Amino acid sequence: MSEPQAVPQTLMEAIRYFSDPLTCIQLFARLRWTNGQAECPRCQAKHVSFLSTRLLWKCLDCKKQFSIKVGTIFEDSAIGLDKWMCAMFLIANCKNGVSSYEIARDIKVTQKSAWFMLHRIRDAMRTGTFAKLSGEVEVDETFIGGKARNMHKAKREAKITGTGGADKEIVFGMVERGGKVVTGHVPARTKKELQPIIKERIEAGSAIFSDALKSYDGLANEYRHAVIDHAVEYANGNVHTNAMENFWSLLKRGLHGTYISVEPFHLFRYLDEQTLRYNERHITDADRFVQLCSNVVGRRLTWNQLTGKNDVGRDSGADSAADSL
Ligand SMILES: [Zn+2]
Repeated sequence: MSEPQAVPQTLMEAIRYFSDPLTCIQLFARLRWTNGQAECPRCQAKHVSFLSTRLLWKCLDCKKQFSIKVGTIFEDSAIGLDKWMCAMFLIANCKNGVSSYEIARDIKVTQKSAWFMLHRIRDAMRTGTFAKLSGEVEVDETFIGGKARNMHKAKREAKITGTGGADKEIVFGMVERGGKVVTGHVPARTKKELQPIIKERIEAGSAIFSDALKSYDGLANEYRHAVIDHAVEYANGNVHTNAMENFWSLLKRGLHGTYISVEPFHLFRYLDEQTLRYNERHITDADRFVQLCSNVVGRRLTWNQLTGKNDVGRDSGADSAADSL
């Protein structure tokens, strides 16, 4: 195969670039295989030839043909790589996320297909464990509850009290100032729930900044723990949780503005999405896209896994699903 052109830098360039299926394949081959050298998924042979009329490879050892989608989140998808690449460029770089309705319009697939595509892309945005956070780390929790907005006022007031309510989901976050954020959907914001996570993900001896929630009591045994009481003030010198607050506002803008309503079952996927964009905020759009491409290999998310349903909703399906499917 010939050398592909450079990776597109902007959405405009991406749309033009990915409109050619062969260019897509050339680029993705370079990102998924060492030196772009295709490898047979069955026998791992590198003795292969590219069938340019069919956009497939043929293994010269086992004689089987294979597509570039094998062994990636695209496997079994009837949707072309050109559309997948555009969707990935969008989601890697749109700060507030992109809804399945927007993707459906932008790349001309059904909304249900777009919803499934987006979840498979989010699966590739899941980061494995990385080094522990250290230095100055802010910890905080927030409530996510999109559904309350659609309730009748009286019902809403009955259900929601104070800063959180029983119908809301709790997200816990830790951010190293100037560095990475780690987030998770937690069942409760109790000491028993939060402190083991803190100890697992934050290096002992680090400085931890939190609000006055009782669940953080006792951290001073292993950390330098400073508390800002939000009932009194929002910052006292360097004692604040502003970096975490910034992340929550980004997350909520995406969840409430773009996705409208998210089922608790899928919340962690939206966290993965926003977390990756935040953690890679210092690199260019093109580099973020490339990083996402290199994550799609070796991951699979089937319709049944995603929905817990036995549905034939493959990506050629009818468009009835919502983001809250
Ligand atoms: Zn083979």
